[in-house]
Amino acid sequence: MSPSRRPDIPDSVFEQVVEQADLAVSITDLDANILYVNPAFTRITGYEASAAVGANESMLSHKVTPPAVYQSLWGKLTARESWAGRLVNRRADGGKYLADVVITPVLDAQGKAVRYLGLHRDVTELHRLECEVRNQKALIESVVDAAPVVMALLDGEDSVVLDNHEYKKLMGDLGMVEPATAILDAVRADMGHGLGTAKEGSHAFLNREVRIDTRRGRARWFSCSGIWVRRDGSDADSFFGQQNSVFLLLTAMEITEQRAQQEKARMAALRAMLAEESRIDSLRETLAAAVFQLEGPVNMMTSVLGTMERRGNGLPAGAALSEALNAARSALDSLRAVIPANSDEMPTAVNLNEALHDVLDLATPRMLAGGMHVEWQPQAVLPAIHGYPNRLRAMLKALVDNAIEAMNTKGWRERQLRVTSSANAEAVEVVIEDSGPGIPASARLKAFEPFFTTRKNGGHLGTGLSSAQQVAQDHGGGIELETANGGGCRVRVVLPLRRA
Ligand code: FAD
Repeated sequence: MSPSRRPDIPDSVFEQVVEQADLAVSITDLDANILYVNPAFTRITGYEASAAVGANESMLSHKVTPPAVYQSLWGKLTARESWAGRLVNRRADGGKYLADVVITPVLDAQGKAVRYLGLHRDVTELHRLECEVRNQKALIESVVDAAPVVMALLDGEDSVVLDNHEYKKLMGDLGMVEPATAILDAVRADMGHGLGTAKEGSHAFLNREVRIDTRRGRARWFSCSGIWVRRDGSDADSFFGQQNSVFLLLTAMEITEQRAQQEKARMAALRAMLAEESRIDSLRETLAAAVFQLEGPVNMMTSVLGTMERRGNGLPAGAALSEALNAARSALDSLRAVIPANSDEMPTAVNLNEALHDVLDLATPRMLAGGMHVEWQPQAVLPAIHGYPNRLRAMLKALVDNAIEAMNTKGWRERQLRVTSSANAEAVEVVIEDSGPGIPASARLKAFEPFFTTRKNGGHLGTGLSSAQQVAQDHGGGIELETANGGGCRVRVVLPLRRA
């Protein structure tokens, strides 16, 4: 009796256990001739015990199983080791099934093999399900891989557990930086908060447009969505406990081309709008200039007439002067009435970095033609000011145009434009510095007066700085002129973040 068996357990119990087991059990001699089979063997193979006993196990052999498998099986058995594997078996009725087989040599007291014990079960259905899962996985993977969008499945720590071909391509483009990290950082910055509570089937974010700068300096745009998906735990301890976790399925569709088109259309519209604004501005300035220039003589006439009236002399001349004065005043009123009003745009949050970017973009062809080099140093995140976007953009355009014109002087070699933006708790500052001839200190205050100009080429009224100053003042700020280090002109625009 085996020492691992309690003395009150008789041999018959073992016989019952083997007989009633739901596993095909067979015992053979060393040539695989069958000595015993249990009822489950009959149920699975279709061979009655009477037909099986005395026959060889090879009656189960279906010639689909490669000979090498049997060779490895017998190799193990002759070395007195167990063999486990899968064989395609043939039933008594000729039908086939996939058997999960374990064959173990039964050793005597001297360790010599005397019998073989075979255990097997039909795993055809299990195999079918396994194949189906594998096929479905392969299908899903090939669909996901072929999809023209970047896809990645992320766990709770934002680690990628599954990705596709496009994702890997983007990773190469980013110099092996994880695209999911770059996208999620951009989405979080755009949303201004986290991704919210993970809820299966709901969107963490939808169609967020994010910009990613590749290592070659090319900006790529993606429309990104994230959806929470549940994954059941596959650990043994999750079998009863239903442990599952929520993953984030990230998809990103490239929209760089569409963005470029939109940007092109926006810049064309902006160019047209700025041209129209500048036309109206010139008209406004010309009329204001005419009023300004007429006011001098009218004031003089008023004071002469007053003196004449006080002295009580020169009545006919006084009457004529009074008539002329009335006509001049009426002409002035007519002129004032036709000065176009400022456009009635609504004040809103304005990011001066964006406005400067637009202005520099528009000026690029002229700067290239003039062989100018631009150094654009924006503060990475510039707070928005509250103001009139079109007027502010027109103000910046006037200042950049002035700088370009100053450097475009014939024969002038230094052609470097430096534009920076920065902010502190109170204000945003924009500095536009050119390497042109500069404005002499004596002329700096006069430069803000309408019609003052240092240019001798004519055709320019010299009102740009005065209207730029007006826009800055309307926003509670101001513009100062300084001499740049190289002698050019440095224009400093300071606009407060909050206005009284
Ligand atoms: P076989 O002529 O039987 O032999 C195939 C190869 O095995 C040959 O290369 C031969 O060299 C080697 N070989 C065969 N017999 C021996 C031996 N006695 N000693 C050393 N090498 C040997 N097969 C199944 O297909 N399905 C089963 O469910 C199954 N259950 C088995 C259970 C037990 C307990 C044992 C011992 C064997 C079992 N076999 C089973 C293996 C079976 O005996 C055959 O080897 C196999 O079916 C191949 O049969 P065959 O007629 O194609 O080739």
